[in-house]
Amino acid sequence: MVDPQAACRVSVNGIVQGVGFRPFIYQLALDHQLMGQVANTATGVTILLEGPQACLDRFLADLPRRKPPLAHIVEVRSEPLAPQGFTAFSIVPSQGGEQRFTLISPDVAVCDDCLAEMRDSADRRYGYPFINCTNCGPRYTIITDVPYDRPKTAMRHFELCADCRKEYQDPLDRRFHAQPNACPVCGPKVWLCDRHGETVAAADPISAAAKLLKQGQILAIKGLGGFHLAVDAENAEAVRRLRARKRREEKPFALMAADLEHIGRFARVGGAQKALLTSIQRPIVLLPKRGDAPIASAVAPGNACFGVMLPYTPLHHLLLQAGFSALVMTSGNLSEEPICIANEDALARLGTIADRFLMHDRDIYLRSDDSIVRRAGGASRFLRRSRGYVPVPIFLKHTQPSVLAVGGELKNTVCLTRERFAFVSQHIGDMENRQTEDFFRLTIDHLQRILDIHPEAVACDLHPDYLSTRYANSQGDLPVVAVQHHHAHIVSCLAEHQVEGPVIGLAMDGTGYGPDHTVWGGEVLVADVKGYSRAAHLLPVAMPGSASAIREPWRMGVSFLEEALEENWRELPLPLVQGLNDQQVAVAVQMIQKGINAPPTSSLGRLFDGVAAILGLHSTVAFEGQAAMALEHIAAREAVDPYPFTWTGGGPRVIDTGGIIRGVVADVVAGTAPALIAARFHETLIGGLTNLCGALRRETDLDRVALSGGVFQNVRLLEGLLERLGAAGFTVYAHQQVPTNDGGLSLGQAVAAAAMLG
Ligand code: ZN
Ligand code: ZN
Ligand code: FE
Repeated sequence: MVDPQAACRVSVNGIVQGVGFRPFIYQLALDHQLMGQVANTATGVTILLEGPQACLDRFLADLPRRKPPLAHIVEVRSEPLAPQGFTAFSIVPSQGGEQRFTLISPDVAVCDDCLAEMRDSADRRYGYPFINCTNCGPRYTIITDVPYDRPKTAMRHFELCADCRKEYQDPLDRRFHAQPNACPVCGPKVWLCDRHGETVAAADPISAAAKLLKQGQILAIKGLGGFHLAVDAENAEAVRRLRARKRREEKPFALMAADLEHIGRFARVGGAQKALLTSIQRPIVLLPKRGDAPIASAVAPGNACFGVMLPYTPLHHLLLQAGFSALVMTSGNLSEEPICIANEDALARLGTIADRFLMHDRDIYLRSDDSIVRRAGGASRFLRRSRGYVPVPIFLKHTQPSVLAVGGELKNTVCLTRERFAFVSQHIGDMENRQTEDFFRLTIDHLQRILDIHPEAVACDLHPDYLSTRYANSQGDLPVVAVQHHHAHIVSCLAEHQVEGPVIGLAMDGTGYGPDHTVWGGEVLVADVKGYSRAAHLLPVAMPGSASAIREPWRMGVSFLEEALEENWRELPLPLVQGLNDQQVAVAVQMIQKGINAPPTSSLGRLFDGVAAILGLHSTVAFEGQAAMALEHIAAREAVDPYPFTWTGGGPRVIDTGGIIRGVVADVVAGTAPALIAARFHETLIGGLTNLCGALRRETDLDRVALSGGVFQNVRLLEGLLERLGAAGFTVYAHQQVPTNDGGLSLGQAVAAAAMLG
């Protein structure tokens, strides 16, 4: 007696290609005694199934529960069919089809199964630095086009050997259709060379490289998404030499350590941080330093944290076997240029920095920097979203027209939308040199191709002179939608929470162009995805020297003092005054008074700079935000009283920073410890902004607040506002899927532009 046969066609959409999905389906069909076939299509996979109805039902129930680790299922659709009489279950070749839209997996860390094989002296891949399988390894960075098949990856130059081909073709093998599959016989190789590209003979190039690192040399190491520059993190002299050669005087260097135990010796690691460090994405995680850390102080000077990651490629694991406390693994680039990915380019650009190069011949098609995350306010927050996460889409509330959003100027990313997906690119960088602009164009072209997106509009910043804005305006006939910087920040936060507003938006930021042609950055908006009104902002003050006031916070110190105290501050015993000569002050004051090269700004970032300068923490900085970080770093933990935080007017309200500055000055003059002043300053902003939101709620009935902008990288401010606004009965949204800094701007631009067009 044969069970009555049923049949159905199942379409699965999501990240289901190149992640071991078809072998999984094959195994699942065998487990449930079903016949039929599975094939990749341009949009995912299609499964034909035949067998008893009860078995079909169990199959469908098991599918999402047992999926492979890298698969990301968005949608499963099933429709009944007439049985065709299949007598087996098989995996059939890819079906080309009209649609090309597939979700592509990000690059992920080598899996435990592969690591175990790499460490097994009996395995044919013993010690092989490119071991991978369908559950791990490179994806996004090696794909040149879709559908994702070996000829469309950087692996096309490597002909599979008989053993690898057997694995590749066996549906029950862990390497079935693993496109980067390789072994020492047929796959990529690693070698050591000098700065002229001459090979340095070594039986084992990786242990030779480790030896050189132990001797204090600087190595350029080709990785997954680009080159790193590496030194032994314990070797203070080597770290100092790397800083000097890279001309990177103060920005912290990232560290890589062999395992959690090694990390625990120099940083404090909580449970949530452990989960982040060991996740398949393997980001750099910011961890509080331990006092007794065996790490050179020049690794992260003046910083409370180390940025730390675990090894994520087999090559990293082999390198760290040599027994380092940690390696400095910083981006292989010249100051602000994009990281090197090609061997020749690395020799040309890093030749003056690195003593030796650890090269390999698996091409990196698209660069992807290490991602950076930290825990704050009970969640993980991105400082940079790149390798391991991109190109996983952000899921939007609605299907929207396809938009290309080109981001801002600094920490640029771009975003492409299609249906309900928003694809935010990897970190592109500061658009201040030709190389970064080239990378920007390449990324846009590449994402459009592999995602098959044909944008109907281009979104950009309101600033007319940004390189990204100029690019947007050069895109032929496509409509261009300019989105105000801080509106884009708030919409970015709303989009990732699938909220459309209206909300009260606190856009606390460094720099953004306002429609009144002044520099905005301390903005309280009443906003929805479509538009905003400016409900309040910080009192505008002059930026004497314009953009140079960002690199020289003493200028903002002078400006805030002039505004708050007029001439009466020059005789006061302030650290800022003592550090400046009369000439410098006179020139700055004149710029302010005459309004020459001194544009007004309402930026909260600049207020942080000004207060840090008045306290004598930083009169100049090496990177934007450094003075603000110092102010956060020194702030005492104890409860303190705020300075006055008042506002005037109604359309829009103007927050009087003068009261804050006068409070800070009085404390300095009275000899109050800078740690307490910094704490009072933070408390002022937390309490004051909460009160302001309360006033706006009484007026507008809005009880939701969105927090966005670069200033929310300040953990004390973020956590303080989350807590205080929450206690006041507000629903508070903060970023978790994209950075709160300008790296998240493109997402907000894309969603705001679509809303404005719609
Ligand atoms: Zn693996
Ligand atoms: Zn092989
Ligand atoms: Fe911004």
